[in-house]
Amino acid sequence: MPETHAVRRDALRKALVEKGLDAVLVTRLVNVRYLTGFTGSNGALLVTPDAEVLTTDGRYITQSAAQAPDVERLITTAIATDLVERAATNGRVRIGFEAHDVTVEAHGRLTGVTENAELLAVTGAVEALRAVKDDDEIELIRRACRAADDAVAGLWETRLAGRTEKEIRNDLEARMLAAGADAASFETIVASGPNSAVPHHRPTGRVVEPGDLLKLDFGALVEGYHSDMTRTVVLGEPAQWQRDLHALVAEAQQAGIDALRAGATSAELDRAARDVITAAGHGEDYTHSLGHGVGLEIHEAPSLRKDGSDTLADRMPVTVEPGVYLPGRGGVRIEDLLVVRPDGPDSLTTTTKELLVLA
Ligand code: ZN
Ligand code: ZN
Repeated sequence: MPETHAVRRDALRKALVEKGLDAVLVTRLVNVRYLTGFTGSNGALLVTPDAEVLTTDGRYITQSAAQAPDVERLITTAIATDLVERAATNGRVRIGFEAHDVTVEAHGRLTGVTENAELLAVTGAVEALRAVKDDDEIELIRRACRAADDAVAGLWETRLAGRTEKEIRNDLEARMLAAGADAASFETIVASGPNSAVPHHRPTGRVVEPGDLLKLDFGALVEGYHSDMTRTVVLGEPAQWQRDLHALVAEAQQAGIDALRAGATSAELDRAARDVITAAGHGEDYTHSLGHGVGLEIHEAPSLRKDGSDTLADRMPVTVEPGVYLPGRGGVRIEDLLVVRPDGPDSLTTTTKELLVLA
């Protein structure tokens, strides 16, 4: 929606004025998409207090006109340097650039355009805006979550024992596509038995068998927006240690969810869940952070971690995903995607968190 993109650019303008800049040069493609709707593989955007210019190359003449009809377009092969030149046509300017995206080599080219342009790093300015989602974005993420929920519900009705991790991955991904996903959101994790103790295990030819914990971490992509969930189930009657491990992670996850509110800091949230696991003597076996924002990227602001400095705000979708991993034996992770709301988090993931005993 062009109006939506205009609102987003106005928010960036406000930020640039606050930082004392005359313009912002946006080169991260995902940020160009967020601010204009343009999804091509080459482009940049200049935003000034009263105008904006989108550059892209000749391959995208038609597409850029259709996707970003309300923005002035410049077709060129020098997508970033032409924008610096444009910004500096009327004298000295201070231009913010995305230092987390521009390489040292590209920075050299940008500073070489003209002596009239002073380039200042603005790191994460658009990402900070993106962390808070509008209704349309939340609806797309909800659809992406639903495709993943539907897919896994179907998978669980099938027999899993006797199939390899890769076969289960292929099945789950096919079910997500059938449920309306444009693609898998990231490389699906299917980790069985001892492999479940590896947080980011890649599916192998290992045949899943009774007695295994089976950890599935997956998501769907819908119109550019991602989802992300993890469930750990058990094949056949669970051993007591498997029940205990699952119950502990579920308790920690609930503590993290209970702490989700506007104003909570990243470190506070991480601690809420981590304290439960540490108190049970498994602090060393929880080797990653609590969660992350999700949107146009699978991992985006805010970052929920021990040493994090982000603060939650209303309308931020975040994952809550503690895990405990016992090397050589198995691991459990439970991950939901929730949106921060004034009256408590709204869970976009709806799949049960009970320990499912499957065949
Ligand atoms: Zn995940
Ligand atoms: Zn995640």
